[in-house]
Amino acid sequence: MPEAWRDMDITNPTEEHAMLREMVRNFVADRVEPQALENDRSERFNLELFREMGGMGLLGLTAPPEYGGAGMDCTSVAIVNEELSYSDPGLCLAFLAHDQLFVNNLVHSGNDVQKQRILPNVCSGEWVGCLGMSEPDHGTDVLGMQTSAVQSDDGTWVINGRKMWITNGIIDEEGSPADVVWLYARTGTDAKGRAEVSTFLVEKGMKGYSAGQKIEDKLGMRASTTAELVFEDCIVPAENLVGKPGESMIHLMRNLEHERVGLAAMSVGIARRCLADMNSYATEREAFGKEIRDFGQIQRHIGESWAEYRAMKAYVYDTARQIDLAEAGHRLDSDGVKLFATTAAKNIADRAIQVMGGYGYVGEYVVERMWRDAKLLEIGGGTLESHQKNITKDLKRDPEAIN
Ligand SMILES: Cc1cc2nc3c(=O)[nH]c(=O)nc-3n(C[C@H](O)[C@H](O)[C@H](O)COP(=O)(O)OP(=O)(O)OC[C@H]3O[C@@H](n4cnc5c(N)ncnc54)[C@H](O)[C@@H]3O)c2cc1C
Repeated sequence: MPEAWRDMDITNPTEEHAMLREMVRNFVADRVEPQALENDRSERFNLELFREMGGMGLLGLTAPPEYGGAGMDCTSVAIVNEELSYSDPGLCLAFLAHDQLFVNNLVHSGNDVQKQRILPNVCSGEWVGCLGMSEPDHGTDVLGMQTSAVQSDDGTWVINGRKMWITNGIIDEEGSPADVVWLYARTGTDAKGRAEVSTFLVEKGMKGYSAGQKIEDKLGMRASTTAELVFEDCIVPAENLVGKPGESMIHLMRNLEHERVGLAAMSVGIARRCLADMNSYATEREAFGKEIRDFGQIQRHIGESWAEYRAMKAYVYDTARQIDLAEAGHRLDSDGVKLFATTAAKNIADRAIQVMGGYGYVGEYVVERMWRDAKLLEIGGGTLESHQKNITKDLKRDPEAIN
């Protein structure tokens, strides 16, 4: 039997992937790590650093090069998310909202005119993008959304409603709204009362579009901004409708799969950092005349964290490998990997705090921030409960998946 397959590294399957990882890892050590603690404390989105990532070709990872993107795949996205989250999951969440929720959606669902006009601006970082799906009264229950869009006789759309919890909804200290929003709105109602969902590209300066409250005092992900967006008789030109009215559920579901793998990859970065820090601390710290790693209870924290880290990493990169960004069809694993990896990351961060005792409870030692940031991953992009529901539904439809 040929043995070459054994050389395959699922986390860096090609030389390009390995080079991307090395570039981002160096950037993280030089530029991201030094600012992470301070921006968490001050709840500030580091827009300057974010724009630097545009210069490195990171802000349109999956966009074709002719539009200013890097033309890469879901594995590349997992690599960047993992590396950024090793140091600053909050910055990574802002990146994810822009790159995976806005740019990737436009790449796969926008028309040529929309792509030519908007993609170069977002890939460079001149414009910051976001995605507006959740509402104050409708989160998991997406099809209950109330934000409505009605077409006027002149072809323009009039949008009314509020979106809640929007990452990058506000991008600076002046409260400026995101430059461009991938907005889901109700353009009809089906027989069961559920929304027929359409997508609109809403741009800064369009009448009736503004940022509402900035959500302050979040538990974690404090280096990303979260805001309410307000649409009050907002006028959107006909050419900013994406696809046909009422057809957005297909691309909404497809992009959610990509997002969930991206969020799971963030968990890998958090887990790796927490494991590395608890491991070195367990050697440095002595108690009762011994390194604390000699105590069985500490060994349990480290041993279980190692096994979970290895398992989540394999599941994340195996799922990323299979994702075709242009096609839906991987919900079972995109939900499965997010369900497993996010809770594993939170538990590993929790054990790291425990191993590091009082020091683990203090910002300077990083792991408490990782624990706070990890919790969001169990909620955003779909709650744990929604993944459990989807997996159970999908396994009824396809029991052969268990093979
Ligand atoms: C920091 C942050 C950033 C975010 N960024 C964005 C963003 O950029 N864009 C965006 O659109 N949204 C964003 N969100 C919103 C996020 O996706 C939602 O919070 C999430 O989908 C859950 O919705 P909800 O908060 O309304 O909770 P709900 O849906 O009200 O859920 C409350 C509880 O009920 C459970 N539940 C609900 N329905 C069911 C069911 N059928 N079966 C079992 N349990 C159920 C949930 O699992 C949860 O435990 C962000 C949220 C946060 C906190």
